[in-house]
Amino acid sequence: MIYDRSNIFARILRGEIPCKKVYEDQYALAFHDINPQAPTHILVIPKGPFTSFADFSSQATPEEIAGFVRAAGLVARQAGVEDSGYRLLANHGPDSHQEVPHFHIHIVGGRALGRLLA
Ligand code: ADP
Repeated sequence: MIYDRSNIFARILRGEIPCKKVYEDQYALAFHDINPQAPTHILVIPKGPFTSFADFSSQATPEEIAGFVRAAGLVARQAGVEDSGYRLLANHGPDSHQEVPHFHIHIVGGRALGRLLA
């Protein structure tokens, strides 16, 4: 899918819009969700131009994928939710209500989350 360079996360990556950053390295940027659904709600985005999981999983290099996954794990650990538990979530496409067309995962935790598909 053609990447829309004007999406809000692309603008955050370019520093045009502020974010509450919690982590950054060469592969990923992590910041607090503006509309948190739990005490911990952090978004982790890759630095490359990937519209969604479909593009990231098929087009990112193995190094980009590994770096992103490592960063997400580190962010969860640093957020202090590793022992109590957390949920990783990535929406792809309209049925999932993906709103921002830059691949991202939600790290959600800090409270009992219930069953995902109840
Ligand atoms: P949904 O909104 O249905 O969860 P997504 O999976 O695309 O769809 O998630 C986009 C997330 O980005 C939302 O949780 C939203 O609150 C968050 N968000 C939107 N704009 C910003 C922003 N400027 N800074 C931080 N988070 C944002």
